[in-house]
Amino acid sequence: MRTFKIMTSGQQETVALGSVLARRLRAGDVVCLFGDLGTGKTTFVKGLASGLRIPSRRVHSPSFVLMNIYQGRVPLYHFDLYRLDTLEEIRAIGYEEFLYGDGIAVVEWADKMGTLIPDERINVFLSHRGEDKRLLEFKPSGSRYREVLESFKAVKT
Ligand code: ADP
Ligand code: MG
Repeated sequence: MRTFKIMTSGQQETVALGSVLARRLRAGDVVCLFGDLGTGKTTFVKGLASGLRIPSRRVHSPSFVLMNIYQGRVPLYHFDLYRLDTLEEIRAIGYEEFLYGDGIAVVEWADKMGTLIPDERINVFLSHRGEDKRLLEFKPSGSRYREVLESFKAVKT
């Protein structure tokens, strides 16, 4: 599978998608989110959280730090790199421990990771398609994530 696209109508549908995906993830997995402000990245993270039994109201984009940690079935490491200026800042927090560790990592504005972006990851490209419509395009990098997305797609279609 190359890409799998799905259109959502309203934030609840985006939350539901995240929740279904989370149930297919395990510790060490990485999900990278790409898309402009307001396309639903944080909303999707709320869905991931609820799929890991973390109350979605706890999920907020970290504004003064680069990452929030939520404790669920496994930890969820929520990065938001919107305000990142240099890669040194993510190096300084020891990001590898979170990206390849005991939890699931999700990164908003993953394009800002530049060369630090993991080779193997799930990419999700989000875009505006009207007032309450958003297009989510899922693209795996690496064989494990091709399998994850195959099984995700099977549920969603
Ligand atoms: P981002 O993190 O990409 O900046 P947010 O998830 O914080 O975006 O905000 C998305 C906004 O768009 C929220 O106010 C949400 O209610 C609204 N919205 C409307 N339709 C959708 C949809 N289909 N999916 C996700 N969010 C939606
Ligand atoms: Mg956000």
